[in-house]
Amino acid sequence: MTDTLTATARHDARPAPLLEVSGLVAGYGQGEVLHDVDLTVPAGSVVAVVGANGAGKSTLLRVLSGLLPAAAGTVRFDGDDLASAAVEDRIRRGIVHVPEGRHAVAELTVDENLRLGGLWRGDRRELRADVDAAYDLFPALAARRTSHGHALSGGERQMLAIARALVAHPRLLLLDEPSLGLAPRIVAEILGTLAHLRAERGLAILLVEQNVRSALSVADTGVVLNLGSVVAARPSAALLDDEQLRHAYLGF
Ligand code: ATP
Repeated sequence: MTDTLTATARHDARPAPLLEVSGLVAGYGQGEVLHDVDLTVPAGSVVAVVGANGAGKSTLLRVLSGLLPAAAGTVRFDGDDLASAAVEDRIRRGIVHVPEGRHAVAELTVDENLRLGGLWRGDRRELRADVDAAYDLFPALAARRTSHGHALSGGERQMLAIARALVAHPRLLLLDEPSLGLAPRIVAEILGTLAHLRAERGLAILLVEQNVRSALSVADTGVVLNLGSVVAARPSAALLDDEQLRHAYLGF
């Protein structure tokens, strides 16, 4: 039986939901990928979406950021239904997507790429300060600020993608596979920075990851997606403790 996603909080006093997804249906053409997905991200919390290849994790993030239309359902963010809002409208409200693949503009420098993060912001005055704050979070990028996107390592490109999203002032970061193909040391550094952002700034994060243990080590809640449906949503430690669920859906 599907768990209720209200099982998100570890504490009795539950934080208010920042994102509430209900009955979400989406896909590509006639092919339905997400079936009646419900999901809650409380303010300031980290929720990890895990599941096998092809489960629909990236599709879910694309629908939440507005890249892919929802066929049905609601995407309530801070009280408003944004299910049919434009991508830039969602960014302005604080939903910022870091897609899989670490897209950096190859011909632009690190600094120029970071400034692109401010594209949809109404207030450009603080842009320089925000870019500098991103360098404080990722010192490896500061050392590369005049390097072009094509010259960066995979780890640097992943840091750049996250840092650029932070320049947009997210309230909810949608983060797709940040650890893919990176050395464990770099993964630990990136996850540590995310934990810091959550603790210091109250940033909420919806994290999609193949690396289930890493994801659940930083997440409050784990949501298991299987063939486009949510089959469990529980506190991370409870998910890891459930051997049957791990074997059935997570492969370990
Ligand atoms: P992975 O970890 O392998 O990226 P995932 O859980 O993120 O998997 P999705 O990438 O969301 O899964 O894919 C879910 C389903 O949607 C798969 O069957 C996939 O083939 C299909 N799909 C994904 N992108 C497209 C697309 N652009 N056009 C058509 N079908 C797609």
